[in-house]
Amino acid sequence: MPPRVVPLIDQRSASLVTPAAAFSPDTRVAASGLLSDTRGRPLRDLRISVTDRCNFRCNYCMPKEVFDKDYAYLPHSALLSFEEITRIAKVFVAHGVQKIRLTGGEPLLRKNIERLIEQLSALRTVEGRPLDLTLTTNGSLLARKARALKAAGLQRVTVSLDGLDDAVFRSMNDVDFPVADVLAGIEAAQEAGLGPIKINMVVKRGTNEHEILPMARRFRGSGIVLRFIEYMDVGATNGWRMNEVLASSEVVKLIHAELPLVQLDPAAPGETAERWGYADASGQHDKAMGEIGVISSVTQAFCGDCNRARLSTEGKLFLCLFAAQGYDLRSLVRAPTSEASDANLASAIAHIWTGRTDRYSELRSAMAPDAGTGGRRVEMSYIGG
Ligand code: SAM
Ligand code: SF4
Ligand code: SF4
Repeated sequence: MPPRVVPLIDQRSASLVTPAAAFSPDTRVAASGLLSDTRGRPLRDLRISVTDRCNFRCNYCMPKEVFDKDYAYLPHSALLSFEEITRIAKVFVAHGVQKIRLTGGEPLLRKNIERLIEQLSALRTVEGRPLDLTLTTNGSLLARKARALKAAGLQRVTVSLDGLDDAVFRSMNDVDFPVADVLAGIEAAQEAGLGPIKINMVVKRGTNEHEILPMARRFRGSGIVLRFIEYMDVGATNGWRMNEVLASSEVVKLIHAELPLVQLDPAAPGETAERWGYADASGQHDKAMGEIGVISSVTQAFCGDCNRARLSTEGKLFLCLFAAQGYDLRSLVRAPTSEASDANLASAIAHIWTGRTDRYSELRSAMAPDAGTGGRRVEMSYIGG
């Protein structure tokens, strides 16, 4: 088969402009912990991408034919330093953020990531509580790093794992990485106390749907929450097609037929996953057996209470996973003038969030493919999941 040619439009250098009102003494806004966007959605969750590099080439995220040896990753000078990340994060927390997730690329590839975790774990929410500090990883380096991550102040981890069958897993990560090493990483994370652990499985019809039941059987009763994610049309390189999406409702039906499930209430507002508990003989949730989650990013929009902001590796603020462009916060923290002050940074974030209208998933079904972004979407490995 000839190699698939994927046009890659690099949006990393383009950025949106912070509204000028953010810097005027008359309209500057201080952080109050109570930001709301145009649809009344608060700002609660910040996802920070710490690297655009990865040691895997999952074909739904960083296909080999695009992310090859010639791919131009960001130079080190473009990345936010740990001090810059912490400074920006502190302002977000003052605006009401309660949860920070480190992601990437593969976040454990960023050198000395433990130092960043130490700095972030010292932050306190507006109410004076520690942050919910977590990290999403492919698990490849977890066996080696779990204890140091815990010691640095990380509370928990989410590990991505798309199947238990070694051949399926090796072919999905496309670098021949063995599943046993990720399972060892998950065990090390459990031993280090990085729980409750979540496992994310992206389900691609025709690729790994036969792994759904083995995964459910394996993690039922383990204290680990397995979450099934619909394969998403994020980025511009994965050649996404609707017929490769397996709807979450199908996943629930499949598991329920063998292991009966009952639907559970959402754990928190803005929660992306719909929760299903394993049922006991009387049809009640059997807590010892635990629960699964399904994330229906394609078939069921959950923009209505989306409280997530994303900070890219080079310091751009994205208001939606499907946004074509982000707001450049790095230039604010690196500016030599008073624009660099935390008050201006806080005001910029406030003006940007209060103007937020994004609800891509809600609009997706109503529009022609790519109508919302003109086909220009940032890659998941750049913006983080
Ligand atoms: N490398 C880390 C990992 O894989 O966990 C963190 C970054 S990765 C971009 C974050 C999450 O996004 C992973 O759970 C991954 O499975 C998910 N993801 C990437 N591309 C996706 C797609 N097209 N559809 C659904 N989920 C996707
Ligand atoms: Fe890497 Fe994670 Fe993307 Fe897979 S999903 S290529 S592990 S960043
Ligand atoms: Fe949030 Fe955008 Fe996803 Fe909707 S599509 S839930 S606004 S990230």
